[in-house]
Amino acid sequence: MKLEGIHHITCITGDAPGNVDFYTRVLGLRLVKKTVNQDDPTVYHLFYADERGNPGSDITFFEYPGSPRGRAGAGMVHLITWRVESEDALSFWAERLEAEGIEASRDGSRLRFADSEGLVLELAVVVTDDAPLIAEHPEIPAELALQGFDSVRAYAEEPDRSRGFLEETLGFEPRGDNEWEARGPSRGSLYAYDAPPAERGLHGAGTVHHVAWSSTVEDHATWRKRVADVGARPTPIIDRFWFKSVYFREPSGVLFEIATLGPGFATDEPLERLGERLTLPPDYERLRDQLEHVLTPLPNPREHFVRARTQTRD
Ligand code: ZN
Repeated sequence: MKLEGIHHITCITGDAPGNVDFYTRVLGLRLVKKTVNQDDPTVYHLFYADERGNPGSDITFFEYPGSPRGRAGAGMVHLITWRVESEDALSFWAERLEAEGIEASRDGSRLRFADSEGLVLELAVVVTDDAPLIAEHPEIPAELALQGFDSVRAYAEEPDRSRGFLEETLGFEPRGDNEWEARGPSRGSLYAYDAPPAERGLHGAGTVHHVAWSSTVEDHATWRKRVADVGARPTPIIDRFWFKSVYFREPSGVLFEIATLGPGFATDEPLERLGERLTLPPDYERLRDQLEHVLTPLPNPREHFVRARTQTRD
């Protein structure tokens, strides 16, 4: 039984319109689900991913309108890295970000920048057999596009406190100094720690809320039991409709989730129309009129979408 890398990464934004613009128009991801936080339906939960909404490519945001900026500290993820295919892709992105007025710094095969709320992001040239998870975008050729997550890095005071849990309970394989890989038969991602800054972390806009790891549907309950058996106090299994989830904190304080690889985002809307309409959990459907008034209006990023190529990928 192995976790198949990162399933999704959930962050916080104070500005949903700016967030949609950056992750769809600039980074070229697809808005695959526009829904609300199941614990507070007056705020958005926005999901961006590849063309099909595959786990491994999915960055999501809770919108707390006007939320002050946070900052990453001990027990929080501070860097999200996507794979790209080549040095040419990195050069393309360096130019594209510069044209947007976004500062980016290149270090070898890595390009680091931040979104408008200070969330630190990175693109890295990575050689892998994992399938590229790509969204279509009229200005971004497929061979230059983001290909799904490679890693997250978190801050930890004493990474050794997490070692046993990561390796024995979650089956992560050590890959160097304070770095591990979660790899299953289909996909893998890296998890690593850095020494935290002196200042305490602060949750808020531009910070990561949690990172979710992929489990098969069959193994999910067994993962929950394994986590519970070592005293890590997982939540019950929660039905997120597009996947099932359990949450717990790993020993360094980072909020983890284990989410199932199915059924996926096309269970309640057609693949061609993902993310265009506000999707509500069944219990909130009766509140649709009120919620549509409260939520910040958002454009459909694909309203004027022209497919870059005429083919479909598979
Ligand atoms: Zn999640």
